[in-house]
Amino acid sequence: MLDIQKIRADFPILSEKVNGKPLVYFDNGATSQKPQVVIDAIAKYYQEINANIHRGVHTLSQLATDAYEVSRGKVQNHINAKYAHEVLFTSGTTFGINLVANGFASILKSGDEVIVSSLEHHSNIVPWQMLCEKTGATLKVIPMDENGELIMAEYDKLLSAKTKIVTVNHISNALGIINPIKYMIDKAHEVGSAVLIDGAQAVPHLKPDVQALDCDFYAFSGHKMCGPTGTGILYGKEAWLNKLPPYQGGGEMIKEVTFEKTTYADLPHKFEAGTPHIAGGIVLGTAIDYMNEIGFENIQKQELELLEYATERLSEIEGLKIYGNSKTKTSVVSFNIDGIHPYDIGTIIDKLGIAVRTGHHCAQPIMNFFCIPGTIRASFSFYNTKEEIDALVEAVKKAQMMLS
Ligand code: PLP
Repeated sequence: MLDIQKIRADFPILSEKVNGKPLVYFDNGATSQKPQVVIDAIAKYYQEINANIHRGVHTLSQLATDAYEVSRGKVQNHINAKYAHEVLFTSGTTFGINLVANGFASILKSGDEVIVSSLEHHSNIVPWQMLCEKTGATLKVIPMDENGELIMAEYDKLLSAKTKIVTVNHISNALGIINPIKYMIDKAHEVGSAVLIDGAQAVPHLKPDVQALDCDFYAFSGHKMCGPTGTGILYGKEAWLNKLPPYQGGGEMIKEVTFEKTTYADLPHKFEAGTPHIAGGIVLGTAIDYMNEIGFENIQKQELELLEYATERLSEIEGLKIYGNSKTKTSVVSFNIDGIHPYDIGTIIDKLGIAVRTGHHCAQPIMNFFCIPGTIRASFSFYNTKEEIDALVEAVKKAQMMLS
């Protein structure tokens, strides 16, 4: 059993007041809050070892480089990548997906197909549309059903020898549905397609095992898992990363430069041009350590309890509809109340100190499917409590009374 009050004490922002009320933070899907160890580790980096990495022989540069590479190793262990050089530091999920989509421009030709799902965040739609425009490939979309689940029979039908990459999220940000990615990866491989998994919403809740999944790429953001903003990881299988061209040119990603020809550095540096977010990369390792200390089994247990409690309590409210009624869900409740715009609820409950996300959640195709402008999304983390859910329920009831 987690000692939630002890955990909450690790997060200074959780004792802040917002609009004069104790903060109830239920916008964890957008970004998580940061524990004091993470906040301290950022200051410590700048106070003690700030220097550019991979560049100097001087002591600070070596200390910073070592810390950065230690963090890469932590990520490697955390996601069970075979090699550390398969772990690329990025600025976030969006960057990682764009890196791969850009690389596939050198592989795809007219007539090839890219498969995305109807449950994607815009970050996992737009880069592939841009790729298809560039190459003449076609974008195919796996449909979903009323429960927000992807229809696997339709997915099977979309796969063919023309499929060059399947790109799907591990967990949907708008609805919290956990997709059957192992099945999808295996099926895609049967037709010789690569697979990218957008793990942005998965890594706060679970520990992905990229070798067991056998995905070709796995992208995620540090800021959703207690780490700093502007950090992220793209895992890629060695063979794929060797095959793809670099995304950006610049310092650090070269072996030798002449005006006639440039040769590129080995992995992972080939994909890490320029000065990265050094402090962020190092402290992402601190965040991963923190989450592992709490333990993902404990995290899942706590979050599942919160999900069940919130679903039950919110369902008491007349006219409230929850979107995404799947059994395989993470701790997200996306809902609307009959006749009331989600923004109006969000604005009123904010005055009561409750932070939820309202709108289309960067997933407009999902909103179009349900014919709604958006939803109110409460996304819970292991540091949230049932009392906070009670506060949400009371606040939503109050907002409903005021607005109807
Ligand atoms: N994919 C999913 C499923 C997300 O939820 C998000 C962010 O909310 C992203 C991609 C984009 O992540 P970032 O903005 O950190 O690059």
